[in-house]
Amino acid sequence: MMSKAYASMSREELLSLKEELDKEFQGYKEKGLKLDMSRGKPSIAQLNLSMGMMDVFHSESDLKCEDGTDCRNYGVLDGIPEAKRLLASIAEVNPNNIMIFGNSSLNVMYDTVARAYMFGLLGHTPWCKLDKVKFLCPAPGYDRHFKITETFGFDLITIPMHEDGPDMDMVEEYVNNDPAVKGIWCVPKYSNPQGYSYSDEVVRRFAALTPAAEDFRIFWDNAYSVHHLYEDKRDEILEILEECAKAGHPDMVFKFTSTSKISFPGSGVAAIATSDANMADIRKYMVVQTIGHDKLNQLRHVRFFRDRYGVEAQMRRHADILRPKFEMVEQTLEDELGGLEIGTWTKPLGGYFISFDALEGCAKAIVAKAKEAGVVMTGAGATFPYGKDPKDSNIRIAPSYPTVEELAVAAKLFALCVKLVSVEKILE
Ligand code: PLP
Repeated sequence: MMSKAYASMSREELLSLKEELDKEFQGYKEKGLKLDMSRGKPSIAQLNLSMGMMDVFHSESDLKCEDGTDCRNYGVLDGIPEAKRLLASIAEVNPNNIMIFGNSSLNVMYDTVARAYMFGLLGHTPWCKLDKVKFLCPAPGYDRHFKITETFGFDLITIPMHEDGPDMDMVEEYVNNDPAVKGIWCVPKYSNPQGYSYSDEVVRRFAALTPAAEDFRIFWDNAYSVHHLYEDKRDEILEILEECAKAGHPDMVFKFTSTSKISFPGSGVAAIATSDANMADIRKYMVVQTIGHDKLNQLRHVRFFRDRYGVEAQMRRHADILRPKFEMVEQTLEDELGGLEIGTWTKPLGGYFISFDALEGCAKAIVAKAKEAGVVMTGAGATFPYGKDPKDSNIRIAPSYPTVEELAVAAKLFALCVKLVSVEKILE
């Protein structure tokens, strides 16, 4: 295997390499592949881990929750007590500071932005009445976060991500000085797509922010709080509600979580954890919006998982399925691209993604090339605000859905596309 850096090759060497790679690519095209590494979806084997939940209830089941409420009926606005305890244990917060919603935390995030936009937060001017609202977007990040705030017409400001979290000098500069900056998107643990986790220092600097806007909020999406890949190597982060309270800013954070990638993404349970004042503010509008969410699903989750230990046991089973997939992609990238100096990639200890950085100006072409041979990747640029990666370099790899065997092929083809596009770029 040739592992000479491409940049140090002569033009002749590159031209003959390109010919070889082109031939190899044609071979892949003829295979008629149909593989998908684009979205962070659990595989069928992972979904099957929660099928026991289907047996929790039958027609004779006692469907009362612990306070005696019949879960089949109307009522209980923000969640049954035992579901609050379960979700609070996942979110590492006090059960008194959590509210349960429907099946999707993304939906809760959208609604949270919408409430601030239409009604304002804690009596402040609704964001829709302001000339300008700015939102900070650590990038690469989660495309659907960025899309929410883009849809409301906010100005999205890119904040570079480092291995220990967003660039906090820049965050402080914006938040502490510009009253138009109303929020920031954060995926603090096993971030999407890099799999980075925020250091204690970064979390403390978040809690210590002194925003120019009194209604500035941190949107802390702890989507991957228990989603470790390894038993012995794990990221743990400081609890943000507690840190904000200690720093004297108890209302500054909305923390989101869900069981989407613990049970079923289509039928999980989502929650928001926040201060008493913020919860009272949310309830004011929620009571108009609904009489209560799906309590049978909440009860089903509690009866199936019981508690945090049940969740952790389930996450170990998920990890046993996911780990070989991450390792397959990482090993293939190392075998195929190691030493060529045409790309770098992350090696996360949890979460759902691997982030790949190609040579500048190559990402779009690589994704297009992979598609030509039947492998779908997340659209290049999606990990940046407005779907525009200024360097056209970042590609999100989602290894969860295909089988290990399929990934072996897909990752090899992806690496081939990286090589081919990089050679063409260097030859330009
Ligand atoms: N937040 C992050 C960071 C995600 O990566 C995802 C899904 O990929 C979600 C939220 C979606 O969460 P939910 O299924 O609870 O809406």
